[in-house]
Amino acid sequence: MRMLDIIDTKRNGHELTDEQIDFFISGVVDGSIEDYQISALLMAIYFQGMTAPEQTKLTMAMLNSGDRLDLSAIDGIKVDKHSTGGVGDKTSLPLAAMVAALGIPVPMISGRGLGHTGGTLDKLEAIPGYRVALSETEFIHQVQTIGLAIVGATGEIAPADARIYGLRDVTDTVDSIPLIASSILSKKLASGTDALVIDVKTGSGAFMREERDAQKLAHALVEIANQAGVKSMAIISDMNQPLGNKIGNSLEIEESIDVLKGKGPADLVDLVLTLGSQMVVLANQAPDLETARLMLEQTIKDGSALEKFKQMIIMQDGDPAVIDDYGVMPQAQYHIPIVAERDGIVTKIAADEMGIASMRLGGGRSAKDDQLDYAVGLVLHHKVGDKVRQGEPLVTVHSNQKEIDGVEKLIRANFIIGDQAPTMKLIHEVITK
Ligand code: URA
Repeated sequence: MRMLDIIDTKRNGHELTDEQIDFFISGVVDGSIEDYQISALLMAIYFQGMTAPEQTKLTMAMLNSGDRLDLSAIDGIKVDKHSTGGVGDKTSLPLAAMVAALGIPVPMISGRGLGHTGGTLDKLEAIPGYRVALSETEFIHQVQTIGLAIVGATGEIAPADARIYGLRDVTDTVDSIPLIASSILSKKLASGTDALVIDVKTGSGAFMREERDAQKLAHALVEIANQAGVKSMAIISDMNQPLGNKIGNSLEIEESIDVLKGKGPADLVDLVLTLGSQMVVLANQAPDLETARLMLEQTIKDGSALEKFKQMIIMQDGDPAVIDDYGVMPQAQYHIPIVAERDGIVTKIAADEMGIASMRLGGGRSAKDDQLDYAVGLVLHHKVGDKVRQGEPLVTVHSNQKEIDGVEKLIRANFIIGDQAPTMKLIHEVITK
């Protein structure tokens, strides 16, 4: 088999065979195919697309290029959730604890933040001592013992994706649905979950800014994951404004614990319950979504979800005092309010720019190896549609620098007060196939 013929097949709009895809991926991993031929095929895929069976085959070949966790020792239907990433999106933390409190095993493998979006592992590391790097044995033991663990990936997950992603970045082939879907799922399916709920974000702070792109991606992800034997569904949710009221690592842990104490902001709580209900139904623990939602609400009322979160912190060596005292996490030296310059209605809070503001304070990474300041971030006092009065605080900036002129300018330019609010909806669509 020759790589040139594989490129030719796709360039001319034909379907690749399973053997051709296997040949390509093994050449990517063992280095026998050069960057220029991989790049040429990526460009051909970008323009010609892939059929559903090709996308599934590509994902499986990439998945099988690396390590896969075997969770068969854990009883029950294991469920996980994946988000395509957003600003203020701390959903995984309360969600995992609430679902696990119902006795459903949640072995969650999460990632770090890059650019304007945050990462679950970074947030958890704001809790003093919390260890995200567990061995496979520790991870399985913890899920067997308390039904919940949130950790970083161990071993070598989908090495084919690492090389392909690097080339997509420099050949302008990132935004191709088959390439995005195979990249995401080759890593996610390596966790060994039985069922998966996927939160595809759309809007200014999302990777898929346009709703029709988010729809295409959601359909591709659900179809591939189901084909791979993992029961899956997707929700398209809004990321035009940040989720919840807090952005930043310590701040997002606070807000997550607030959800578990029944004091979470409405949009975040709604998304947690919407995604969580789907997880409970996929795990066959409720006959319908309404029942699942009531069961999840009960885990907040009876304190069992908060207790589950505490158990996880203890088993991963974190300081459980955080549950009652947020002050054990790093705290910013300055709390600087940004006030409204006029009366009116909040018409826009650009999610991406709020994420960038938090990143500039030190709360996020612009490069992979940047050090984080867990203490910093933003607290939003209003959301789109709220009435505000001149002089009222809109945002409090938590900073470790006194001088925040650039960040303040950025926030002012993207937190807009006008006269008529647009209609916002949090859940855009539910996709089951
Ligand atoms: N996230 C991934 O892991 N891969 C992509 O291609 C895009 C987002």
